[in-house]
Amino acid sequence: MFDSKGASPYDSTLMLSGQLPKTIDPRKLARQGLKFEGSLALKQFDRLVASLADDQGEVQVFLHFYMSEDHRVVLEGYVEANLKMICQRCLDVAELPVRSDLNLMGVLTDEQARSLPEGYEPLMLREEPMALLPLLEEELLLSLPIVAYHPPEACQVQQSFTTESDEEAKAARAEEERKRRNPFSVLASLKADQKKSE
Ligand SMILES: [Zn+2]
Repeated sequence: MFDSKGASPYDSTLMLSGQLPKTIDPRKLARQGLKFEGSLALKQFDRLVASLADDQGEVQVFLHFYMSEDHRVVLEGYVEANLKMICQRCLDVAELPVRSDLNLMGVLTDEQARSLPEGYEPLMLREEPMALLPLLEEELLLSLPIVAYHPPEACQVQQSFTTESDEEAKAARAEEERKRRNPFSVLASLKADQKKSE
């Protein structure tokens, strides 16, 4: 859980509630130590909505920009929403709570992006301000399950029929998720396959 009341010396006292900027200049916001809290209508997230059963609802956002001890731009926070997807077991709508924690550090080059401290993902800094929504949407897309299911007790299809395939589906999902989180591993396995077939 992200703790916004932590004892970090970089904590700002300024929290902008209910206001989310359309574009962000991470360097400037980090120097100011700004925090933002607010929500955006789910239907604005076109790419995300394309995978959903329903575009109604809100996306909750918390963002905290600050400078790290070694003067690097950091964006911490989270984005969360209740998303409706079709349960692939009973084909009815399932409401899935999705949350993604943000731990981003500003980088200027690919080289810097590859050598970030453990636990951080790169935030590419540009001269011009960047749009906030696509950044949040990307995070949510990464958190979406590949295959959606109700929790077993809420599903209309009895568990006993599907236990085995559930286990398989779960394993497949974990594998997909791993690949999605790390596109380089996909490249590596593609290369490995290529070698094998040569
Ligand atoms: Zn179901």
